[in-house]
Amino acid sequence: KAKALGASSYQFFEPEMSVEARRRLQVETALRRALELGQFELHYQPRIDVRTFRLRGVEVLLRWKHPELGQVAPFEFVPIAEERGHIEEIGRWVLREACRVGKELSDKYGTQLHVSVNVSARQLRSAELVADVEQALRVSGFAPRALELELTESALIDDIEQSVDVLHRLKRLGVKLALDDFGTGYSSLSYLKRFPVDVLKLDRSFFLDECPNGDDFVAALVHMAHALGLTVVAEGIETEEVMETLRDCRCDEAQGYLFARPMALPDFDKFLQCEVPGALAA
Ligand code: C2E
Ligand code: MG
Ligand code: MG
Ligand code: MG
Repeated sequence: KAKALGASSYQFFEPEMSVEARRRLQVETALRRALELGQFELHYQPRIDVRTFRLRGVEVLLRWKHPELGQVAPFEFVPIAEERGHIEEIGRWVLREACRVGKELSDKYGTQLHVSVNVSARQLRSAELVADVEQALRVSGFAPRALELELTESALIDDIEQSVDVLHRLKRLGVKLALDDFGTGYSSLSYLKRFPVDVLKLDRSFFLDECPNGDDFVAALVHMAHALGLTVVAEGIETEEVMETLRDCRCDEAQGYLFARPMALPDFDKFLQCEVPGALAA
């Protein structure tokens, strides 16, 4: 049956299917050919130094535009791609594209750009991840120390022994590792000691108003992370007020709509033209 589901798969929908089930089936079906049809694109969101406001790096975020479904959000399609076994191939493309663009822009502006790539749980479990990263670096010539892989705690604690092993192998390639979405899962500080990560990304839920004594809590977290030698990045920063808090808490970097939304490559390139002084002088 799966084979018969092509571009005209809509006729296979059962009339009693719920709206959600139909949507899921549409996404699932379309996802199979998205990569070969060139429907993916990377967007780029700057990471800013909290004290100097200078660019410290960029996170690449996957975008999928389907001719009929329109723009599909990662929150919708990444879990499906994981489940259906497409994420490894898609992730490989993301790594290659991120390193290629990272190298190109670093050369263009004569300054090393730091690029972060999200890696999902299934990629972490795949036997190929380390080789994929190694190959993306080799083919592009992008500096390993300028590549950072973002992993979530839930992906890591799924199989701690294996995670620790893979993380050490990745570290040996010279890349950096970040713990993403910290604060949304178990968020046990003991993991910070076990996993050889360099960067802690605090989830935006820390900075929403509902969080009582949020500032003290964030300050303590940052303090602890620094004691462990980690760089702390705050995600989803939308207001000046929160920036003030981040400065008080000695958080290192911030990322969010206050500075820039994720941008398509031409817009990010323009952003860099303003950001890198003198880069265009020649
Ligand atoms: P994430 O890695 O935690 O990425 C941060 C998300 O927060 C992004 O959503 C970004 O657009 C959004 N964001 C940034 N600043 C703000 C802000 O100020 N306010 C708010 N409300 N949101 C902000 P996006 O791009 O929709 O990605 C969602 C998630 O999908 C990512 O969360 C990541 O887990 C996953 N993802 C994205 N790209 C990839 C990829 O290439 N591979 C894998 N495996 N997962 C990816
Ligand atoms: Mg991320
Ligand atoms: Mg995150
Ligand atoms: Mg998040």
